[in-house]
Amino acid sequence: MDQRQEVNITKALNDKREYKRLLLRNSLKVLLISDPDTDKAAAAMDVSIGAFSDPKGLEGLAHFLEHMLFYASEKYPKEDSYMQYLTEHGGRSNAFTDSEHTNFHFDVNAGYLEEALDRFAQFFICPLLSEDATSREINAVDSENNKNILVDVWRWSQLQKHLSSRDHPFHKFSTGNKDTLDVQPKARGVDVREELIKFYEGHYSSNLMHLVVYGKESIENLQNLVEEKFSAIKNTQRSRPYFPGQPCHSEHLQILVKTVPIKERHTLSILWPITPEIKNYKEGPSRYLGHLIGHEADGSLFCLLKSLGWASSLSAGETESSLEYAFFGVMIELTDAGQEHMEEIVKFIFQYLNILQKSGVAEWIFNEVQAICETKFHFQDKISPINYVMNIASNMKLYPPEDWLVASSLPSKFNPVIIQMVLDQLVPSNSRIFWASKQFEGQTNETEPWYRTAFSVENIKVELVKEWEDSQPDAKLGLPSPNVFIPTDLSLKQVEDKVKHPVLLRKSKFSRLWYKSDTMFFTPKAYIKLDFNCPESSSSPEAEILTNIFTKLLVDYLNEYAYYAEVAGLNYSIHHTGTGFQVAITGYNHKMRILLEKIFEKILNFDVKQDRFAVVKEKVLKNHLNLKFQQPYEQAFYYCSLLLEHCMWQRDEFLEVIPRIQADDLVKFAPRITSRMFFECYVAGNMTSKEAESVVQQIEDSLFNSSVPLSKPIFQSQHLERRIVRLDSGTNYYYPVEGLNEQDENSALHHYIQLEQDDTKMNVQLELFVLIAKQPAFYQLRSIEQLGYIVVLMKRNDSGIRGAQFIIQSTVKDPAQLDIRVEAFLKTFESKLHTLTDDEFKSNVNALIDMKLEKHKNLREETQFYWSEIDDGTLKFDRKEVEVAVLRKLTKEDLLNFFNNHIKLGAPGRRKMSFQVYGSSHVAEYKSAKSGEISSYESVVCNGKECALDGVDTEQLKDEKVEVVSSDKPVETTTELVGYHPKRIDDIYNFKRSQALFGSLKSGANQAYA
Ligand SMILES: [Zn+2]
Repeated sequence: MDQRQEVNITKALNDKREYKRLLLRNSLKVLLISDPDTDKAAAAMDVSIGAFSDPKGLEGLAHFLEHMLFYASEKYPKEDSYMQYLTEHGGRSNAFTDSEHTNFHFDVNAGYLEEALDRFAQFFICPLLSEDATSREINAVDSENNKNILVDVWRWSQLQKHLSSRDHPFHKFSTGNKDTLDVQPKARGVDVREELIKFYEGHYSSNLMHLVVYGKESIENLQNLVEEKFSAIKNTQRSRPYFPGQPCHSEHLQILVKTVPIKERHTLSILWPITPEIKNYKEGPSRYLGHLIGHEADGSLFCLLKSLGWASSLSAGETESSLEYAFFGVMIELTDAGQEHMEEIVKFIFQYLNILQKSGVAEWIFNEVQAICETKFHFQDKISPINYVMNIASNMKLYPPEDWLVASSLPSKFNPVIIQMVLDQLVPSNSRIFWASKQFEGQTNETEPWYRTAFSVENIKVELVKEWEDSQPDAKLGLPSPNVFIPTDLSLKQVEDKVKHPVLLRKSKFSRLWYKSDTMFFTPKAYIKLDFNCPESSSSPEAEILTNIFTKLLVDYLNEYAYYAEVAGLNYSIHHTGTGFQVAITGYNHKMRILLEKIFEKILNFDVKQDRFAVVKEKVLKNHLNLKFQQPYEQAFYYCSLLLEHCMWQRDEFLEVIPRIQADDLVKFAPRITSRMFFECYVAGNMTSKEAESVVQQIEDSLFNSSVPLSKPIFQSQHLERRIVRLDSGTNYYYPVEGLNEQDENSALHHYIQLEQDDTKMNVQLELFVLIAKQPAFYQLRSIEQLGYIVVLMKRNDSGIRGAQFIIQSTVKDPAQLDIRVEAFLKTFESKLHTLTDDEFKSNVNALIDMKLEKHKNLREETQFYWSEIDDGTLKFDRKEVEVAVLRKLTKEDLLNFFNNHIKLGAPGRRKMSFQVYGSSHVAEYKSAKSGEISSYESVVCNGKECALDGVDTEQLKDEKVEVVSSDKPVETTTELVGYHPKRIDDIYNFKRSQALFGSLKSGANQAYA
């Protein structure tokens, strides 16, 4: 037991939780958090071993081990029983492997912490790491790599590593793939499972671990639990691996790297090796410098680049960091015009740094940053326990105990010498410039080995360095002004009419106001949401694009002013919605009205600035072009929405209209967007009902009631409706389509089962089915069949129309076969459902009730919940209570009937549609799927080579039989799959027109509300 002096852990003023530090006999460092109010318990274990410790030639071993620990242990040898236990009790689990640590975490309904902890502890006491599971899970690691391989952030991160010292572990590839963890080691005669065990035994020592446990129990009880469960972790007295030295030597500095991105974009990043912030976190030098270099108001670097039309975004701050090294980066998204001025842009960066050098470190700026950070820390929102423990466990090895909660979020010591020291490191001769653009296609001469990123490197010439060093600052550059948005009134409003759910406070021909006073969070924050229904805004693809540009221009015009508000913790957004546009403001309520007024001033006096129009249009076009590079499963998701939404324009249509749209079109169209409007408003948090009403009155007066009003109310017939396609009962459709990016090998399946429009009993049956089937589906389709890294079963809600969806991304099986595997899973799941004991059934029902009764943790979460009721038009603010009442009466028979009528293959009321995106590894299968020959099922291509069918027998399929794998043991058995007659859809629009629609729950201003 720890007999040392108790330290005072700094916590937020509004934090009522109790904390206690503990050191077990095996040197495991623990933080206990007792929160009697919590509905979820959670724990995180951070092990101070990461990918830097991977043995040579076994890249990704630490990450692979992280995956393997989830499988089974000596105490709980049944595979997947850990995940199964958590899911059945409303929990979830995850992990990540970083360079120097690996973090495992879970949450569970608050009453089930003890057994969950016992199971979790076995990860670190006696994992099985079976031969069989090891040989399967390597495929998931490989599929995870396939998911990342065409994603620019992964590619650039590895390129930075590639261009660093080979002797530093920073250089290595960390996630691993089949080649590094299977093929290559086997060829060398290395047994990877033995290596996993060796790695585990060599590094997973309790003295290198940090544990955080969060529960509703008292500190004493939590302490007993932790001592009982975690004392058995072996302490092999390992010393923490130490990686001294810098990843970049002189040959890796003063370089310009040109590289070809996947996406349509130009980016410029300048990186400098700096002293890690962790060494001086109370002085916060990188925070101070990032605040200034990344500022966006008048005088800032970004403001200047924006006025020249060269940049569309800029950020600055510490990037890669560890105890021994770190980088400071300035990341700029360039416009097409900016792409032509790279050297001048870099020159402006150094001019700005020269200004910081000349003006010296300013105490008032540090004080401002400190004040903002302090308010932010003390009035922080509660977050989900799983994220809370994950963050703290990661901090524990880096900070002294008193700062475990604070970490580096509270700079408190003004020390100009330390800030100056880091500023002095940001010089041209120390810089690494990474410049990405498709323009460099064909002009590069090297390829990064892991992601095959094309690049070339050149040294930056000494004359250029000299020019940058000596460059005199542009007159437009300067320090920001004092921030007027910092809140000074943080008092809580006295609210008399405290209500449990939102109330309809006010209704007029222009608007409707919903109001919810704060009864939960007691922070000086509020939320205002304004949803404008503008009938003209969605009348055509052109209209939607023009509305999109309209909202983006508003943000663009507001940016220099509103950036101060954002820095001070008052955030806003303006975006188009497909039926108009939405304005949202959230944060400290003190100065919220000032910002709101400014936003409406811009809407009232909207004008089209030619130069900004061009920049925004270019950005909108690129956004649409880049949809091509979405993950295939996201593309499948898009097709599902396209089919279900009665009114939704297609991306090809947008791509056709954007290039032709001119500034003049918006000059003519903007007045039409706002000519007739109706807005729905939601106000919540630290605001009285009087204030909420005055917000709406003020907006109405400015938009509708002036002498020459901008807007009129919309006609009765124009009121918003949102309708969803109702699939035919008893049908089984599929829509095959090629992936948009012909380089992407991944295929994807989105298997959608439609249910009803917000029917309480059916909703809870659906949720119960998803809860019970989620983990078995994951275990069967991912852990056993290894179809791919992404395997998910979840519920879906389209404007109140509920459904279930299976999502799988794969290179090993084509989407038609994935679809069959889902059907086969449902078949085996049927028997599992039948054998479910009454106790198991009850336990699942109780888990779902607990999840439903979970309190909102912060204003954002609460707003999301109520807003979706308003936005869908369902308006069941007491949904949780009503659904819990129905759940309490639900029987196992009810669930079986639901499954038999709606979910299982051949069910009479089943309405199923599968969206099948074919990647480049399944080109031949796509052709057959399109031509409608069942021959698409006759062969399967595994990783590029033709191979025998595993799992699906062609002959059996012709007789509507497929192999089905039992969900209990990883053994294959055969079951009949009767009634698998999918009908192909070739044209989404023809199909949509042939189907009925659900009624719209959204309706006009005269909608009756109970
Ligand atoms: Zn992983």
